[in-house]
Amino acid sequence: MKQLECIIFNVEHGFCAFIKSPNNYGLMIDCGGRQNFSPIKWIRNHYNFNHNNIKYFEGRRIAELIISHLHADHFSDVGSFYYNKKDKPKHLFRDKESLKFLDQKIREEKDAKRRRVLTQFKKFQASYNLDITNEVDWGFDFFDVRRISFSDAEEISSGRDKIINNRSYIVGIEYAGTRILFPGDIEEKGWEKAFGYKSIRDILKGTDFFVTSHHGHKNGSCLDILKYTGKPTASILSQQRRAMTIPITISIQSPKTRKVTWSKVIRRFQELYPQKKERNLLKYPLGKTAAIP
Ligand SMILES: [Zn+2]
Repeated sequence: MKQLECIIFNVEHGFCAFIKSPNNYGLMIDCGGRQNFSPIKWIRNHYNFNHNNIKYFEGRRIAELIISHLHADHFSDVGSFYYNKKDKPKHLFRDKESLKFLDQKIREEKDAKRRRVLTQFKKFQASYNLDITNEVDWGFDFFDVRRISFSDAEEISSGRDKIINNRSYIVGIEYAGTRILFPGDIEEKGWEKAFGYKSIRDILKGTDFFVTSHHGHKNGSCLDILKYTGKPTASILSQQRRAMTIPITISIQSPKTRKVTWSKVIRRFQELYPQKKERNLLKYPLGKTAAIP
């Protein structure tokens, strides 16, 4: 049976999601890691020829890696891609216009560990300078990746890092009538600009699972987004240890059955935005599978 599997890893203040598409190709959105845990190594162990659960695309386990934006919490695990061919994603999506900031950040970074991550990513991405020649036949019903223009981001952002956040790729994936939205770290003003793009409004339409932008920080929230997404079934935060909602596995089968496995907590999207202060947490026992009505 065809199925979409989406795993959102617990990488604390960072992001990493792995999606096995209905046609069994591997898609990764960001590759943040946390201390003593590498999502990339986990994927290498769980999705391979031996398990017979993934189709390699031109010899690669991960057909495509999308880096939502060029902040280290979204690529800190990149060193776990061995610099050998079959472990590296076939395609890499990243914001080429923001690459100049990466050089600035490497120059300014005083912490050796963080500088190493930045340098590693610079080296990694430099090997992806060719345009994509062969598209992946994912088997999604809908798959789109968009962002606001560089000049729009510059206009509304107070500094370099805000520009980087607001340039985040907004990724929408739909299968069997269920849509998952990954908006990176776009902030409130970025959203306001984004609503002016029809291509982005089209991605937001009918979101069921909303990975909150900018880790659920207040400055990543924008009330108006509900006008475009409708009311999502669940929102997913990736902010602090305690509030961590992940790893979460979303599996969508055709026809229309949706299952979600929570490891810790799901906060409903609606609870993020009303004026009331208390936020109800919906807690689910570890590993329990709950069907979403
Ligand atoms: Zn971030």
